[in-house]
Amino acid sequence: MEKIALRDIPSVNKVILEIKKDSEIHESYLKKIIQEEIELYRKRIKNGEINKSSLMILDEIKNKVLARASLKLVNVINGTGIVLHTGFGRAPFNSKNLKKIAKKMEGYVNLEFNLSDGKRGDRQEHIREILSAICESESSLVVNNNAAAVMLAINGISKGGEVIVSRGELVEIGGSFRIPDIIDASGAILKEVGTTNRTHSKDYINAINENTKLILTVHTSNYVVKGFTKSVKLAELVSIGDKYKIPVMADWGSGSLIKNISKNTSLDIPISHLMKDKPDIVTFSGDKLIGGPQSGIIVGEKNIINSLQENTLYRTLRPDKLTIGLLEETLRSYRATSFSKDNLSLNMLKASRNTLKIRGKKILNLIKKSIIKDLDISLVPSLVEAGSGSLPEKNIGSMALIFNPKSIKCSILAKKLRLGKIPVVGFIKEDRFYIDLKAVLPSQLMKLSQAINSI
Ligand SMILES: *Cc1c(COP(=O)(O)O)cnc(C)c1O
Repeated sequence: MEKIALRDIPSVNKVILEIKKDSEIHESYLKKIIQEEIELYRKRIKNGEINKSSLMILDEIKNKVLARASLKLVNVINGTGIVLHTGFGRAPFNSKNLKKIAKKMEGYVNLEFNLSDGKRGDRQEHIREILSAICESESSLVVNNNAAAVMLAINGISKGGEVIVSRGELVEIGGSFRIPDIIDASGAILKEVGTTNRTHSKDYINAINENTKLILTVHTSNYVVKGFTKSVKLAELVSIGDKYKIPVMADWGSGSLIKNISKNTSLDIPISHLMKDKPDIVTFSGDKLIGGPQSGIIVGEKNIINSLQENTLYRTLRPDKLTIGLLEETLRSYRATSFSKDNLSLNMLKASRNTLKIRGKKILNLIKKSIIKDLDISLVPSLVEAGSGSLPEKNIGSMALIFNPKSIKCSILAKKLRLGKIPVVGFIKEDRFYIDLKAVLPSQLMKLSQAINSI
């Protein structure tokens, strides 16, 4: 074959014309990635690394550009076993709820319109009643996420003043959520008390001065401190707050709405139990153990909630109609002491080993015998965590597909599955590849076996 020269590389316009034949992608976007791909070929040709015809190059560039320009946010099979995985969007949505939402969200909704009197309404009213009732609180307010809820509450209650927090609760949640930084960004001053392992009520009392605006307790949901430890119970903090006329707030991060989501997850106190201790404000995430969309929920005293809703920050943090619609559906999945099939996250967390074993066998039955043999796939018991720091210890029973392939490295197998038509994300441990079944939706069994078959 004749040696390829730089002038044989197709021009940007030629590639655009080629692609426009079968796709409608924004031209500036196309141009940018075509230029980048052409530049790569230019370099490789200069280095003498390429020996292809101009037509072959055009075809390759076209395919690469189409792949790069295809949709980026795609459906994934989560084989990590972690149901509330931040990387995969935390609480999974169920298609039944999404369909209901799609129907009512088409066009317009009465987001801020009161249909009974024809006047302007409040977006919070669609969920306030049910949320307050489930949490046994006077009122409620929903914002974009729990970090926003914490920030809004601290800003509204204690801007310019001191916030007392135990040194054992100065947590980092991951990403950029650190209690000291959030207090700082909210315009308040952190007053640390006690030590990492032990904080007493006298530590709080001694720290109170005329500039104290808030006592904050933070649920240390993503780690455990064991051994010689002491912390002050919420009820005791509330009695200190009452005595010194200082509001008490609990950031309960992964707060749940019911007790014991499954036999294996002895969850601590549901929000409604927490409210019996009468804290002024409690904040928690809507997409952790609640199983809803990304949101932050504030419950507590009506006067404080009203003032938070009037705070300028609220305007920057208020939830959109999709969040409110999905959260409303999620809240309706709760019963007094249980939840319905519509709460996908909680049903996934609850699924027993036995249920997962049956699903695992179904998947194995759908995989070609030769592939099971080649990749040496079997079904084993496993232990997983809930995720998002919701329950810190790995103690939820599950089942996993384990792969012990001879002819392919686990890292390559993992990559092939990630880059397949339906991306499957598993994990490697001690030179074996795993797909845990805890977070694989019951509706994905067929797709998962197809993905494995197509390796
Ligand atoms: C998760 C968590 C947050 C942050 O909540 P997001 O919903 O991720 O914004 C804050 N505080 C605690 C204690 C948490 O567990």
